[in-house]
Amino acid sequence: MTHVRIDDLTKIYPGSTTPALDHLSLDIGSGELIALLGPSGCGKTTAMKMIAGLLEPSAGDIRFDDRSILRDKPEHRGAVMVFQNHLLFPYMSVAENVGFGLKMRRTAPAEITRRVADMLERVKLPDMGARKPAALSGGQQQRVALARALIVEPDVLLLDEPLSNLDAHLRFDMRDLIRDLQRDMAITTILVTHDQEEAVVMADRVALILEGRLIQYDRPDAFYKRPANEATARFFGGRNFIPGMSCDGSFDSALGRLILPKDVATGPGTLTFRPENVRLGMPADGTNMLSAQIVDVVFLGSQTRLTLRVKDTLLEAIVNPNDVQALAPGDTLSIHLPQSALWVV
Ligand code: ATP
Repeated sequence: MTHVRIDDLTKIYPGSTTPALDHLSLDIGSGELIALLGPSGCGKTTAMKMIAGLLEPSAGDIRFDDRSILRDKPEHRGAVMVFQNHLLFPYMSVAENVGFGLKMRRTAPAEITRRVADMLERVKLPDMGARKPAALSGGQQQRVALARALIVEPDVLLLDEPLSNLDAHLRFDMRDLIRDLQRDMAITTILVTHDQEEAVVMADRVALILEGRLIQYDRPDAFYKRPANEATARFFGGRNFIPGMSCDGSFDSALGRLILPKDVATGPGTLTFRPENVRLGMPADGTNMLSAQIVDVVFLGSQTRLTLRVKDTLLEAIVNPNDVQALAPGDTLSIHLPQSALWVV
């Protein structure tokens, strides 16, 4: 169990004037799994490589259990990185690949055999030890790469887009497997991903990075309920943004006056609410009710997306298909926005 602290970690690549990573600070609890989330080019891999010791920071510090590891060689840091293209040794068998780290540490052969068998069991590949990596599917190879990283019981596990080469079905299985093993072995883990769903499902906390800067570091649900700003809300699928003024617990905008939750600050801002929180019909107490006209109806399978016009403002709602079967563009209906679902950025 290792506590990780990252302080003002910064990287300016030679020849560049803007930092690829700009003063990243994170506190990661022992045994916690956090996700570094952001679009391509935001600096996630740069951060990971500095933690792994593959890249020197321009400034800042990285501490494992309150000890700076910046001067330690990569192999002495106690961090193991699993890359998106899993880089198994092609001429070694699966068992030799998995046992490689232990062999380097001069572990006794009998012990290596025992631990490799145990690890292959854990990643659900018990009978594959004798095969070469080329004789495995992509998903199986990824599990071997995970087994190879975990067998040395690292202090910190670094996962760089570990699921990006897998199809949707395998991704779900692998997600659960990583999470189970990580919890079981209580290994502090940093996962890099550009996929917000993956971050939300897997991580205890998510660090959203945009253009090299940490925007929000929070529990997954906070990004939906209390996004730090509009860019964050948009990255998490937010679609409704209405400029206006928050004052005395209500918000005045082109939609009219809406009652806000208690903890919203006064001043100009942008009202936001999740499409899935728009309710159809009249509220029991008449609060935050609006009259809307349907502009578009898109059936998405398990959900239906409505584009609605309220007083010349377009809103998006995600609703249960059974509730809107009879509705078509041009129809009018009552909707309401539950007070607790509103937020101002
Ligand atoms: P992706 O998801 O595409 O891997 P990322 O978030 O991991 O992206 P990084 O690879 O960390 O992003 O890159 C961050 C920024 O630093 C980008 O603008 C990239 O072009 C730049 N960059 C990365 N490596 C180098 C390098 N060796 N020299 C100069 N600039 C670099």
